[in-house]
Amino acid sequence: LTQLWSPLHFLGFVYREIRHSLADMERMFSLLDEGAEVDDAANAEVLDTRSASVRFDSVDFGYDSKRQILHGVSLTIPEGKTLAVVGSSGAGKSTLSRLLFRFYDVSHGRISINGRDIRALTQDSLRAHIGIVPQDTVLFNDTIGYNIAYGRPGASQAEVVEAAKSAHIHDFVVSLPDGYDTMVGERGLKLSGGEKQRVAIARTILKNPPILIFDEATSALDSRTEKSIQQELAAISANRTTLVIAHRLSTVVDADEIVVLEHGRVLEQGTHRALVEKGGRYAEMWALQQQGEVAEA
Ligand code: ATP
Repeated sequence: LTQLWSPLHFLGFVYREIRHSLADMERMFSLLDEGAEVDDAANAEVLDTRSASVRFDSVDFGYDSKRQILHGVSLTIPEGKTLAVVGSSGAGKSTLSRLLFRFYDVSHGRISINGRDIRALTQDSLRAHIGIVPQDTVLFNDTIGYNIAYGRPGASQAEVVEAAKSAHIHDFVVSLPDGYDTMVGERGLKLSGGEKQRVAIARTILKNPPILIFDEATSALDSRTEKSIQQELAAISANRTTLVIAHRLSTVVDADEIVVLEHGRVLEQGTHRALVEKGGRYAEMWALQQQGEVAEA
């Protein structure tokens, strides 16, 4: 046991946890300065665009060679559209977002933005184009103002306030005794799941990226908070190319396209209405969820 918990092992564990949560990945990478699994190609090009279409072509992937997680996954998110991925726990949904951010390289197939393989781009420029609202936002032990401004270092106070207003967290912040100077994080004020998601949304508004990944919170928010967060997300994802990793179905109804992933394979895809009419797996999931809602009411 002592060996198991050797410092190195522990660090590895922490590092994996950090990566797994997708939280604040941009910052974590620069903090840890671990090239991680991927390197820039020798002649990597800088991505510089305001309009991006994303494609996965026959993507295979496994975290290790023993177990393949994704099998021939193909999907397209046209510029400015929203694609939602649903499927049972462990199907590989969040893995898709980790691959798009290029935490790992695919083992087969390719992921491209505007037709350019993301392995041919510099990681910095790729990641600058992607905003992430993660499942669980990590807050720095600093002020709430700093935590929001982190979305775009150098943003003015007025811009931070503007972003906080759009994310509907400004009123909450100014109600705190120290306002934007309130310390948050482990040693400061603990924020609720919904408040943390709003901080993440405000950061993303400041960052203003053309591509958005929304990894829906797995731990349920109360339904009012969830609805209002969904509205904020709908507002920031308008005109952005958006990948929604949905752990529940309520978020996906309005998506331009829904992909049902099962055991790492695309089982069905289409709009909510088309999938319900089709009467397959999605329709089954939808019916179950409706029953659940009736039972809850
Ligand atoms: P959920 O809805 O429960 O979040 P998901 O569909 O998002 O599930 P993923 O997080 O993509 O699922 O995980 C897919 C599979 O990959 C799971 O079996 C998981 O155990 C495995 N996996 C995820 N992250 C790692 C990792 N860092 N190393 C090894 N295996 C991993």
